[in-house]
Amino acid sequence: MSKIKIAELFYSIQGEGRYMGVPSVFLRTFGCNFKCAGFGMPRGETSHEAVDIAYTHVNIESFQKYEELPLVSTGCDSYASWMPEFKDLSPMLTSEAITDRIMEILPHNEWLDEHLVITGGEPLLGWQRAYPDLLNNSKMKALKEITFETNGTQKLTPEFKEYLRKWNSEVGKELTFSVSAKLPCSGEKWEEAILPEVVCEYEEVGTVYLKFVIATEKDFADAECAIAAYRSAGFKGHVYLMPVGGVESVYAMNNKNVALLAMKNGLRYSDRLQVPLFKNEWGT
Ligand code: SF4
Repeated sequence: MSKIKIAELFYSIQGEGRYMGVPSVFLRTFGCNFKCAGFGMPRGETSHEAVDIAYTHVNIESFQKYEELPLVSTGCDSYASWMPEFKDLSPMLTSEAITDRIMEILPHNEWLDEHLVITGGEPLLGWQRAYPDLLNNSKMKALKEITFETNGTQKLTPEFKEYLRKWNSEVGKELTFSVSAKLPCSGEKWEEAILPEVVCEYEEVGTVYLKFVIATEKDFADAECAIAAYRSAGFKGHVYLMPVGGVESVYAMNNKNVALLAMKNGLRYSDRLQVPLFKNEWGT
């Protein structure tokens, strides 16, 4: 039976993108190919918040659960889902154990109108071989909608692509890729982060949209270049702009500006409902 290293498994409301407001089970897998240490920092600088938590905290082993970890206001807000220093907080679970837990956290212990978000970390990095076993489990049969929240850099294996194509073609089922492509403000390199041909391939098996995190006009200029690159590769989906800000003070500084920017340019605006609603705490 397949196993997946699970950083978090929780029930909340999707706060971003196409399914904003939809009750959702979040399956956060462990591992990412990026660090995104530039978020919330002046250009060219990197955040040390997560590293400081790992190395200057009196006793890192005192953290037994995600909820005990400090939130960060710069860098990747889900740092514990990929930093090796926190790997022991993420157990390897069988698909049976994962689906049992999902049934426990669903309010009616069965799938009704909830949707499944497979997020990370980067969920397409290491677990593509394990998802069919998970999704074929009898407890997942009534699930109708899945979103992969990905950074858009991982190619689908031919086997997984075929599996997803079949899953998506079943009556009433809908597969979505929410691609949060990383602009230079993330601190990642353009040539490693903006891979239009990878994202266009996702469109062969599901609905795909792009989501850009914006803090400044310069970020938007970068987003425009990226959008042009995706379009010229044949990308057909919607594009969302989303304000930077894992903490309320930062988010509140630019959410209206980003909404106005989206309106002005005929693009979609995505909020981060988890920030005003739940302060972006772990498990929300
Ligand atoms: S791609 Fe996502 S999970 Fe990975 S480091 Fe960047 S923000 Fe964090």
